[in-house]
Amino acid sequence: YNKEINRLNNIVLDFINVTQIKEKRLEKIRINFEAILADVIDSYRYMENFSELDVQIKIDENLDMYSDVSTITTIIQNLIENAIKYSKPQESGRVNIKIYGRKRDMVIQVHDTGIGIEERNQAKIFDMFFRANNETKGTGLGLYLLKSAVEKLGGKISFESFLNIGTTFKVIIPY
Ligand code: ATP
Ligand code: MG
Repeated sequence: YNKEINRLNNIVLDFINVTQIKEKRLEKIRINFEAILADVIDSYRYMENFSELDVQIKIDENLDMYSDVSTITTIIQNLIENAIKYSKPQESGRVNIKIYGRKRDMVIQVHDTGIGIEERNQAKIFDMFFRANNETKGTGLGLYLLKSAVEKLGGKISFESFLNIGTTFKVIIPY
């Protein structure tokens, strides 16, 4: 019951976020990635696959990033939710989260050893309402929202995916 309420709650929040993100006024403050990650991971503990997963987090300590907290949180949340959700059930899997800085930008990378995305679907995954997997529930808004959030911050998103092997998403945001 709680799971379902949580899921519906997230769908409503996604819809609100989708309509608001493009008009959103950004408030730049120092981002505490440790705190965001701790909150996000905590909110996904109830997910079916979570207990089987080995989740590794690596955050560059020297990262000094000023940005919009809720937009950054949207990005991290959706990447991690998908990585957990599309991990293979009943099989030990890994989710690796890396956050690090480069010269002019910072990188958020989320890798999973999950079901992967078929090549024929790869061009469509950022489309509104697109879903490639019928065994899970969702609205197909997550990645659309994520991409809008990344673009709002002037960043770029890319990914690499192999069916039944796993997926890596990489978000690059300028400082
Ligand atoms: P929600 O709106 O609840 O996030 P969703 O997860 O289905 O629903 P998106 O997050 O937009 O929607 O993802 C779109 C589709 O891309 C998914 O349905 C899934 O098929 C595929 N996908 C996304 N991330 C991954 C991943 N890490 N591994 C495998 N497939 C993925
Ligand atoms: Mg999703």
